[in-house]
Amino acid sequence: MAAVVAALGWVATPGAAEEPPYTCEEHVVLGPAMAQTMEQIAAEYHRRTGRRLHVTSGTRSPHEQADAMFEKLSRGQRLTSLYRDFEAASEIQSSYRRHRRSGRRVAVREMARVIRSQMGRGCFISRHLTANAVDVRSYDLSRRDQQVFRDVVRAVGGVELLQEGVPPHFHLQMQ
Ligand SMILES: [Zn+2]
Repeated sequence: MAAVVAALGWVATPGAAEEPPYTCEEHVVLGPAMAQTMEQIAAEYHRRTGRRLHVTSGTRSPHEQADAMFEKLSRGQRLTSLYRDFEAASEIQSSYRRHRRSGRRVAVREMARVIRSQMGRGCFISRHLTANAVDVRSYDLSRRDQQVFRDVVRAVGGVELLQEGVPPHFHLQMQ
């Protein structure tokens, strides 16, 4: 850790009333390990580009996860092609199909129920449910800045980076 920080030339200045190196959407909560990694990434990104990253999502409750999935499904995406756990994804997808006609509120509640019961048996469809993931907005980054971001993530290490489509964002999860 110290080696990584030194290699990046980033040193926290204790006591300095600096702005945090990134901004967050309202109500976003990050797990402690993810927060620390995100801070390193954002600080180095800021050093290289002069810009601040924007976090749109962190740790999600089953309900928030279900809501995010409802959004994807209603835009015509398939959970089974977005998530690695095919069975868990199809279970949530079936719940959406059964309940979508009753409206978003009911469908999300039922999908959250499925997610909660999956978690109860140790199955986490998304790392956002375990406090080990963040989404970073990407559509307002130039191609060059996106490359800087990828380089910084690789240099900091310990996280996996996935580029996701709707709305465009980088998904980071602890390895
Ligand atoms: Zn994500």
